[in-house]
Amino acid sequence: MMLPGKDSGFRGVIRHLSSTALLLLLSVLLITCGGPRPDTLASLRGYNLIIIVADALRADHLGCYGYPRRTSRFLDSLAAEGIVFEHVISNSSYTRESVSALFSGQLPSRSGSVGWGARPRSEIPGLASLFSRVGYQTGLFTDWLAICDSGFTHGFHESECFLEGSGPRPRSQGGRGNLVSERAAQFVEDSHNSRFMMYLHYQDPHSPYSPPRNTYLRFRESVFDRPLRLFHQFRPRYRQLMEEGFGPGEERFEDLVTRYDAEIAVTDRAIEILFEKLEALDVLRKTLVVITSDHGEEFLEHGYLEHAWTLYNESLHVPLIFWSRDSLRPGRYDARLSLIDILPTVLSLLEIPHDHTGFDGRVFYAEQNDGFHFHDVGAPLISELLIPHRCMMRSVIHRSLKYIAVQKWIAPEERFIPFSDQQRQIEESQETPVDLWGDLVREELYDLSSDPGEKQNLLATPGSAAHGLRDVLLSFNLIKFLRIYLNSFRLEMASRPAIEYGPTYVQ
Ligand SMILES: [Zn+2]
Repeated sequence: MMLPGKDSGFRGVIRHLSSTALLLLLSVLLITCGGPRPDTLASLRGYNLIIIVADALRADHLGCYGYPRRTSRFLDSLAAEGIVFEHVISNSSYTRESVSALFSGQLPSRSGSVGWGARPRSEIPGLASLFSRVGYQTGLFTDWLAICDSGFTHGFHESECFLEGSGPRPRSQGGRGNLVSERAAQFVEDSHNSRFMMYLHYQDPHSPYSPPRNTYLRFRESVFDRPLRLFHQFRPRYRQLMEEGFGPGEERFEDLVTRYDAEIAVTDRAIEILFEKLEALDVLRKTLVVITSDHGEEFLEHGYLEHAWTLYNESLHVPLIFWSRDSLRPGRYDARLSLIDILPTVLSLLEIPHDHTGFDGRVFYAEQNDGFHFHDVGAPLISELLIPHRCMMRSVIHRSLKYIAVQKWIAPEERFIPFSDQQRQIEESQETPVDLWGDLVREELYDLSSDPGEKQNLLATPGSAAHGLRDVLLSFNLIKFLRIYLNSFRLEMASRPAIEYGPTYVQ
């Protein structure tokens, strides 16, 4: 198979096309999903904004996305009153790359926010600065170490981190989301009726999944006495565990999923506390609340656990709920969006004046005579995982097809690296230039309409009876199409400053 890095004739064509022309070429017609009635019942001009991110929260583990367990009683009630977007993906499966994309509205390699030390670049207008400069009081509150980096807190009027423990990998042991909510409410009270924008990042659904006992027991009759420790047991003993039958139905695996679900319930309660406190302050009437996640979480769908290893659906599909009392008409939309679309959309919805034109994301509503109608962004959705000493890959979703291009891949049985070796690799890699657009070692193509689990790589079975020759030909055409799209970003990157790595953080 000819890989993009070796396709000199193809590259020659690309060099003669401007990236703007390519973007126009690849734009597709907007698909209006809002129906005949507007999605807004009143203007959101000048509203307060709260963006809530629950780390590593898979959309399909929430009741409002069809999960049978009662993990999200309160979020489900918000979803029933608000707007639920069904097909939203994160732009990375790694926290720091993904949240940087959310803050900037730019893809990781466009903004330069890539790698272990990814962080928003202060010279690029983003969430904090765009709201601060028009008079909003801005606050960031979290219990997750990665977000405590000054690259994320920069530009907010107030920020505070609620961490537990110390050392190389301090972890919250659950329940600290309540502190985030209480601090957020205090910030609002201290704002004295000024307009405010808050970013709240809750850590609990992130591993190591250590919920309080009483929350765990809402989902099982008794506490499992041999819980698997992810970093110290799963990774080093991966091959052995697989041989023992570790997986769905096996008690250690089911305990792991139960603990994850209980952590979601912990976060659900923390968000409910936030709403109770803001209700008492009477600020919710003029507030837009956006609830989402930075990425999903793997549970062996593709052979591994946690996240920041792949770009399959379980690592990318995140919830997105817009809630605003009395201003939004409840509804559900199957529009395809990604996190980079949120910032330009909320700026527009709240009518925040700005002259920034550098977003990769798009506004996903249109204003008509009777109000606002949400719709599909009408463009391919791109995700990137660019951690040079771990995994490097990109994925593109266009309509029902998904293409994955892998530059660096580590097989599941080779993913355990002792912590000290990992630190040394990071330090060594910082002195070595990284080619973010190197040759590919692996390509995959999936038809999400018939294969949502991404199990059958169409490139591995070009003559299969299941898809037929016509489908295969269409698929190969699409790959060329998407390579042009990705290479258009490569051309833009050539004029951008080199990547700068901040302080390292090891997951
Ligand atoms: Zn995360």
